[in-house]
Amino acid sequence: MLRLENKTAVITGASRGIGAAIAEKFASCGASVAILYRGNDEAAEKVRSEIAEKYSVKAEIYRCNVADFSECKKTVESVVSDFGGVDILVNNAGITKDALIMTMEESDFEAVTDTNLKGCFNMIKACGRQFIKKRRGKIINISSISGLIGLAGQANYSSSKAGIIALTKVAAKEFASKNVCCNAIAPGFIMTDMTKDLGNEEDFLKSIPLKRLGKPEDVANLAAFLADESSDYITGEVIRIDGGLAM
Ligand code: NAP
Repeated sequence: MLRLENKTAVITGASRGIGAAIAEKFASCGASVAILYRGNDEAAEKVRSEIAEKYSVKAEIYRCNVADFSECKKTVESVVSDFGGVDILVNNAGITKDALIMTMEESDFEAVTDTNLKGCFNMIKACGRQFIKKRRGKIINISSISGLIGLAGQANYSSSKAGIIALTKVAAKEFASKNVCCNAIAPGFIMTDMTKDLGNEEDFLKSIPLKRLGKPEDVANLAAFLADESSDYITGEVIRIDGGLAM
């Protein structure tokens, strides 16, 4: 049984999809949750109110563009003031803007790397002092199999997700002496808004040994394990959760 009582988790991009599932799973294990999102106030409030009511935990929403360094700093200051500290950071916020390299706009490369990769750096920096003070912490970065194998049409996204893997290992090494673990999750195809326009599902299923797309809850279960003390000896690791797709 995973136990996150008396822990405060900051989860970016938690207004829907994988982030919302992680917030719910953490709350079901007893954690208080800070739900960060970019713009959809209504969706974030819906996630917050459902979680708070169902699990009787403290849950608050914060509008925060993770690509903006000072916004991340201010938001974490608000979380610390509201919750008394931060114990777990999940860097989940992410976007895609797919195109082949020869047609990809420079602005689309920058937008994706700024949100996906720089966003993780911004949030690790903003939460780092909390972890150092407590001499304990968990950082979980959501990468992708796209960052492991590279996918055509995703020069920006694959690069950002590969960068997250390197950043995870750097943070694992730099924070290890403070008893802070940092790991990455590399999902395959998970059923969310991000993948709803992928096209013919049958084609994807052919390449997935387990013959199904993943559910946000599959990723949330793994994130909860990495947040829990039962994974305290795992750091700098990248765990694929893809039905066997990228093996
Ligand atoms: P999603 O359904 O599109 O949700 C994305 C979330 O990120 C939303 O809450 C969105 O907030 C938030 N967000 C986007 N840009 C942001 C920004 N600049 N600052 C703060 N929040 C921002 O995506 P998902 O499928 O759940 O994906 C979650 C993570 O898993 C991403 O990092 C993605 O790359 C990764 N992943 C997904 C899959 C998959 O198959 N779905 C596979 C591998 C990896 P708003 O709604 O307010 O915009």
